[in-house]
Amino acid sequence: MNIHEYQAKELLAKYDIGVPTGYAAMSVEEAVAAAEKLPGPLYVVKAQIHAGGRGKGKFAELPAEAKGGVRLAHSIEDVRRDAGEMLGNTLVTIQTGDAGKQVNRLYVTDGVDIAKEYYLSMVVDRATDRVAMIVSTEGGMDIEEVAHHTPEKIATIGVDPATGFMPHHGRSVAHALKLEGALAKAAQKLAKQLYEAFVDLDCAMLEINPLVETKDGQLLVLDTKMSFDSNAEFRHHDYAELRDETEEDPAEIEASKYDLAYIKLDGNIGCMVNGAGLAMATMDIIKLNGAFPANFLDVGGGATTEKVTAAFKIILSDPAVEGILVNIFGGIMRCDTIAEGIVIAAKEVDLNVPLVVRLEGTNVQQGKDILANSGLPIIPADDLGDAAKKIVAEVKQAA
Ligand code: GDP
Ligand code: MG
Repeated sequence: MNIHEYQAKELLAKYDIGVPTGYAAMSVEEAVAAAEKLPGPLYVVKAQIHAGGRGKGKFAELPAEAKGGVRLAHSIEDVRRDAGEMLGNTLVTIQTGDAGKQVNRLYVTDGVDIAKEYYLSMVVDRATDRVAMIVSTEGGMDIEEVAHHTPEKIATIGVDPATGFMPHHGRSVAHALKLEGALAKAAQKLAKQLYEAFVDLDCAMLEINPLVETKDGQLLVLDTKMSFDSNAEFRHHDYAELRDETEEDPAEIEASKYDLAYIKLDGNIGCMVNGAGLAMATMDIIKLNGAFPANFLDVGGGATTEKVTAAFKIILSDPAVEGILVNIFGGIMRCDTIAEGIVIAAKEVDLNVPLVVRLEGTNVQQGKDILANSGLPIIPADDLGDAAKKIVAEVKQAA
């Protein structure tokens, strides 16, 4: 789960981590009111979208020479103008894809006099079972470019969660950032605070880019991206209110309402499967037959007719889907329940793509009968290989 920059900074501030003062705004008037609370004379108006590269981004509706999604404003009137230009318009950045993202929220912050920009991030590194702190003197710009052209400028420091953050980790961070004296001390303290916040908040990723040294010798978090490990959401009931559903894929939101595991993929064959392992095998066998899955969808063990209906509708709502393969092994989940769900859903939505169904397991005969007597053009399959061949052939024939 991703959150906005302003939300992440509010969380970091609770750990006594230095961030520029700022206020979120949903309208031009709120942006102006936010700026009036700040000391000035430099303000920063920042588009809040779940994507980076905003500064270099372009607004689809504005002329090419217009400024991007992070703007320095030198007066309240500039804040008003920038907020007016940004709100409601579509910001296209290197991370949003061509469609861009509509800007519905802004963050108006106190402008900082920057002496130098650094990079610091943390992720859970599964290979080493550690929290990897990734630091570089080359902050502000595209870290992927730095990694590609000058990898020696990036240092990775692993922190073992069993021992936690130790003073030597802090010294390694300060050393990698080539800091000395008071700034080195500040970097050690900041790295420790960030590690504590990372663990405490159950982050999956925390990226500070840039971390800045100000002209008056402070270290400040100027930009941050934070995401949480969804497996730990049960520990953080307050995260629900940080969620901004306008930033998420509507189909994935719909799926989460029904507790379905749904992930959109690039292919054209929609899959409805029960069990993650079976879903993987189904995707593999579709590929083996020369086509690609349009999604991963696991309806889980004890799905109801409503759940199956919802799953079916979600698959069909994807315009890329040219055929559907249902592959169910009825264990706890009974084949007749699945069959009923398919028939209800196919009748509710206008089923206009070929549908191959392979059922096996509990109540398989009842399930097959329901499908056969439904009057719907459902193509039955005997086993997984047969099912994959049939759906791929149907889709290719239609193309
Ligand atoms: P991003 O483009 O989405 O990564 O957004 P950032 O918040 O990182 O802002 C992009 C760039 O704008 C930063 O790397 C800075 O160079 C500049 N910037 C952001 N805030 C300030 C500020 O308070 N003062 C100054 N001088 N520059 C800023
Ligand atoms: Mg940035």
